[in-house]
Amino acid sequence: MSGNPAVVMRLMASAYAVAEKAGAITRRVLQSGDLGIVEKTGANDLQTLADRLVQQSICASLSKHFPQITIIGEEDLPEEEVKEDLIESGQFEEILQKACPVEFNTLKEEELVVWVDPLDGTKEYTEGLLDHVTVLIGIAHGGKAIAGVINQPFYNYELGAGAQMGRTLWGVLGLGAFGFQLQEVPDGKRIVTTTRSHSNKLVTDCVEAMEPDEVIKVGGAGNKIIQLLEGEASAYVFASLGCKKWDTCAPEAILHAVGGKLTDMHGNAYRYDANVKHMNSTGVLATLRNHQYYASRVPQSVLQALKTD
Ligand code: AMP
Ligand code: MG
Ligand code: MG
Repeated sequence: MSGNPAVVMRLMASAYAVAEKAGAITRRVLQSGDLGIVEKTGANDLQTLADRLVQQSICASLSKHFPQITIIGEEDLPEEEVKEDLIESGQFEEILQKACPVEFNTLKEEELVVWVDPLDGTKEYTEGLLDHVTVLIGIAHGGKAIAGVINQPFYNYELGAGAQMGRTLWGVLGLGAFGFQLQEVPDGKRIVTTTRSHSNKLVTDCVEAMEPDEVIKVGGAGNKIIQLLEGEASAYVFASLGCKKWDTCAPEAILHAVGGKLTDMHGNAYRYDANVKHMNSTGVLATLRNHQYYASRVPQSVLQALKTD
């Protein structure tokens, strides 16, 4: 193992390894046939055994090796000993080999905040829309999302046996993003991606105001950002509260690493300090290119309803 001294790169190498383990846990729970579904705030806000095990795995693994880092996970879980087989100690060598961007070289463990969404797209996971599901690990410094890992446990699942299932995408500001082929939507085409299970009139009005050529409705914040990165959608538009910091931190970092932009509906950046409120109350607007166009189309009714506090 090479000795990359930069904490951010070592943390990313560990986050990559534990995200791959998380993907394996997610597949195994599905295979077991018993998802252990619990309703949190209602039928559209679920937690499964995979959400619980993956959060334990990620938080215990990262805090074991980086004890000073603040880690914030989506799920409220009882304090209990995490089973040894959930702990990942490996690090992804390819990340350790890369040079840390100079501005992050001297960051200290205690200055970093890690936002964990153990399973994004849980509702879709329970409905068999497996490619919507992702595991999200975002790293923030000074309130800014600076690096992130996205594992997509069921990538390629429709190709069946023989195909390599699952993949991991990652990125660091100033370094770039890896694990996928960056692609843009064909010139002049506006494809808007939005929620499939958390819609309301404001959400649909806002999508229409973008004058899209096409609208795609899929689950997961991670999944929708992957669509932007791979040229399947031009804008992720969600004019509602509901999305949280752990949904956007990792995706935002990867999107920003390739020159894209994620903001709220007003065009303002979200902050990811340890003490911020978890809810992204003023919506999500993300693009790979042409953010200004989409921001300029957001209706007054949306700006009024989703007021900045
Ligand atoms: P969606 O695009 O609906 O899959 O939402 C993206 C992320 O935000 C997922 O993690 C959802 O669980 C979360 N989310 C969005 N709206 C809500 C809501 N009304 N209640 C709970 N979670 C939500
Ligand atoms: Mg989520
Ligand atoms: Mg989740």
